[in-house]
Amino acid sequence: MSKPKIRVRIAPSPTGNLHIGTARSALFNYLFAKKNKGDFIVRIEDTDLERSGEQYTKNIIEGLRWLEIEWDEGPEKSGKYGPYFQSQRTEIYSDYLKKLLDNGTAYYCYCTEEELDKERAEMEKQGIAPRYSGRCRHLTEEQKRKFESEGRKPIIRFKVESKKIKFNDLIRGEIEFDTDLIGDITIAKDLNTPLYNFAVVIDDYTMEISHVIRGEDHISNTPKQLLIFEALGLTPPVYGHLPLILGSDKSKMSKRHGATSILEYRENGYLPEALVNFMAFLGWNPGDEREIFSLKDLIKEFSIEKTHKTGAIFNVEKLDWFNSYYIKQKSIKELTKLCVPFLAEGRLIQRAGSKFEITDTKELIDSEYLEKIVALEQGRIKKLKDIDEATNYFFFDSIKYEPEILIWKKSDKEATSANLKNVYKILSELKEKDFEPKKLEKILLGICGEDRGAVLWPLRVALCGRKASPGPFDIAAILGKEKTLKRINDAINTLK
Ligand code: GLU
Repeated sequence: MSKPKIRVRIAPSPTGNLHIGTARSALFNYLFAKKNKGDFIVRIEDTDLERSGEQYTKNIIEGLRWLEIEWDEGPEKSGKYGPYFQSQRTEIYSDYLKKLLDNGTAYYCYCTEEELDKERAEMEKQGIAPRYSGRCRHLTEEQKRKFESEGRKPIIRFKVESKKIKFNDLIRGEIEFDTDLIGDITIAKDLNTPLYNFAVVIDDYTMEISHVIRGEDHISNTPKQLLIFEALGLTPPVYGHLPLILGSDKSKMSKRHGATSILEYRENGYLPEALVNFMAFLGWNPGDEREIFSLKDLIKEFSIEKTHKTGAIFNVEKLDWFNSYYIKQKSIKELTKLCVPFLAEGRLIQRAGSKFEITDTKELIDSEYLEKIVALEQGRIKKLKDIDEATNYFFFDSIKYEPEILIWKKSDKEATSANLKNVYKILSELKEKDFEPKKLEKILLGICGEDRGAVLWPLRVALCGRKASPGPFDIAAILGKEKTLKRINDAINTLK
């Protein structure tokens, strides 16, 4: 007999943006599927119509696409197991609900919220873990009619019999639950409104999901789902629970540890390949020193059995490290393209046909000019967003100087001014084509005395207005003769 096909899924609820937890689950499921020539399915759990929003579904889809975690079946794709939105699967659920009601494993419960609260409080008082007492299990037809005439609306509960339930978790090994702690669970508000634990079982079964790989926060749902599978006489999938993602303080990852929405990372200038590489290490590693893995490499190397049991720490510095690495791998052309939105967004430049207009000076520049600027910072920026702050001085008409920062630490105002005047004179005698880093370096080093800083420091600050930047020859070469001279002149005037 051939082995059944590996089919895995993520089942996000569109009640919020795609966050790092779901994206990590998506990645691990995707890798597991692709490694085993299986299918990866995206199913949208939008049964909670009040809290679900179309904008969140869009955000989830866009986030996964950006990461290039492509699904085989799901939204915007066809597939023979659809529909892939729970809100379109009502009939399927109600058929199975009826089965459970008919075989006596589910029943209508008429208890009101107040009654349940009271029952819970009572149990807590007696020191028992609160759970539903099961008192609607044996209502007579007459009692039901009476409740209904009082206007009570029943919900559907599932009978949880007292027993131990065991399963073999793909990652965590054997896990045992005592169902006594669970109590009869609610599985639907009515025949047309299933709740999570029930709908997920029906979907996983009807979509022939072979493995459910999801966050550890769902581990307490697994015994409930196994019981429902059992009551329907169906074989459950294999389960595997991924370790929680923890912030650097080891508490559960949340907003306060930084961006949690995937598209926010994009807005902040992270590259998808960096995020994918980083997320792969949230609960997995290859068992050796290697750290750089493309999605393709991961498909080859990943194994779900190697996933860790303990919490995965989300370390932003590590993410930045991966991001710098991938930034350095880009060709200048590609990196410049990626940086343009961050420069334009900072309103330094605007697109003007095939060229760009510098906002401050209205000067037109071409992409080669931008490429030179970006090349200067390729090895320094951690995020694409940093390009704005790192290079904005290239796009300003004039630089505002604090006179003190122009002065080299071992020098004074007069000497600084004299050195700048000297540099100005020499550069003004050069031709435009001499504005090339190597040439400028040769010429200017020739006029430096013992202490190069006394000449090169004020020159560099004159050109960019800051204490830290790339070297003066590189900057001057990009600025060209006219702008370089203007800035030196402005600096000299500031020192007066
Ligand atoms: N809708 C659930 C969630 O977003 C799905 C959990 C599961 O994978 O079963 O957490």
